[in-house]
Amino acid sequence: MVVLADTALRAMLQLITILNQCHHFRGFVYQDARFSSDHKSIEVAMRPRKGSAAICSRCHQPAPGYDRLAERRYEFIPFWGFLVFLLYSMRRVDCRRCQAVVVEEVPWGNGKHQLTNAYMLFLARWARRLSWKETAEAFRTSWEKVFNAVEHVVTWGLEHRTLGRIDAIGVDEIQYAKGHKYLTLVYQIDLGLTRLLWVGKERTTESFREFFTLIGDELASRIMFVCSDMWQPYLKVIREKCSEALHILDRFHIVAKMNQALDDVRAEESRRMRREGKEPVLKKSRWLLLKRRQNLKSDQRFRLRDLLRYNLRTVRAYLLKEAFQQLWDYNSPVWAGKFLDEWCRQVMRSRIEPMKKIARSLRKHRELILNYFRAQKLLSSGVVEGLNNKAKVTMRKSYGFRTFRALELALYHSLGKLPEPESTHEFF
Ligand SMILES: [Zn+2]
Repeated sequence: MVVLADTALRAMLQLITILNQCHHFRGFVYQDARFSSDHKSIEVAMRPRKGSAAICSRCHQPAPGYDRLAERRYEFIPFWGFLVFLLYSMRRVDCRRCQAVVVEEVPWGNGKHQLTNAYMLFLARWARRLSWKETAEAFRTSWEKVFNAVEHVVTWGLEHRTLGRIDAIGVDEIQYAKGHKYLTLVYQIDLGLTRLLWVGKERTTESFREFFTLIGDELASRIMFVCSDMWQPYLKVIREKCSEALHILDRFHIVAKMNQALDDVRAEESRRMRREGKEPVLKKSRWLLLKRRQNLKSDQRFRLRDLLRYNLRTVRAYLLKEAFQQLWDYNSPVWAGKFLDEWCRQVMRSRIEPMKKIARSLRKHRELILNYFRAQKLLSSGVVEGLNNKAKVTMRKSYGFRTFRALELALYHSLGKLPEPESTHEFF
């Protein structure tokens, strides 16, 4: 028994040595470490170093002591399956500058959280690799504590990031819940720097305007390129706030719209054929028609060739869509414009309403589409699409994100390239 206690004591002294190595703060000392009574956690008592003054948490200056509060527990990074708590009684100071009795500031944590800063950074970094739920399970903590950790790190990051010069932005919407719940995401898409700048609730003019309030008129006026889809509220705000910028309708959005129209034609025709008792040639044709031809496997190519022999509206819509792809090969906006006009003329004669709707929309936004060719050499193409796919992955990994706030934090955390709070040691 005596031997065991002795071994335990020596182990605990080692723990303090390790803590001093990786989590050391001037002005404070680790006093002793012991197991909790149930032996599930380790408690490390801390005290102020003799002669070191407490720091006022309001003005961040040393101030004379006043009294001490009851002992608090700060949760630290778990150690070999044991929870670790730092125990400390906060001092209160009688601060002459603030003319008030104020609780002291401690470098390892803050008044709001039970977790130490080091543990919050540790959890937040894992929460970027795993889902929040998995992170909570892996470290035997709760989803809420992971949420708090990410919130702490993201808030710090947003306060400390530099917006600097922004040459190009892309705006996009993402559906995050049933019933038309959308987010507006604004990305910086400069050649050297791509990151998520802003997450907004809804996809209205009001919400998008908030982004411009955040960055201010000065920065907004220097934006040279804006990429977006054809969503009217976005177009309106862009005209209003970035009148000098070249506004580009993104290729990826146009292709997506075209695919949607083709799919509507196919679904409608397929239903009609079934109703009329015709041979179901369109059955399982969806991906044959939507995928790019070069991405099809050889048996799929064979089936597609077969399908194209039928005189169907779907086939005609497909051929129009495929013909449209040629647009992107142009370098000159003038020639691209001629091609676009001719394509729209053909479609308007096709009597296929969903395709005609696209053509009308393309005609209406002709100049914005041609801006793609005017800016082509200056923007990394497909970057908005790439970022938006990452945003969707973040969302998919996010079972357990019940609220807008949680999703907003997760998106900033994974795509914002935010700076992180400093740490005494690389725990992760
Ligand atoms: Zn003060």
